[in-house]
Amino acid sequence: MVKTKENCPLCKKPMQKLYSPFCSQKCADIDLNHWLGGNYRIPSEPKNEEEINELHNSIKETLDQK
Ligand SMILES: [Zn+2]
Repeated sequence: MVKTKENCPLCKKPMQKLYSPFCSQKCADIDLNHWLGGNYRIPSEPKNEEEINELHNSIKETLDQK
């Protein structure tokens, strides 16, 4: 139970390095569409990579709760 292997946050299939953290281009696109489509509220424009990662993590948590 201590496996660190990550799964796609969208469909839970094993992650592919190429599309990290997703399993495929499709899931990466879905995530991107969520961003662009305004399904997620972005409080302020992310200014650096750290903020973007933080935001991305909160999105992943939201998806995981489903
Ligand atoms: Zn996936």
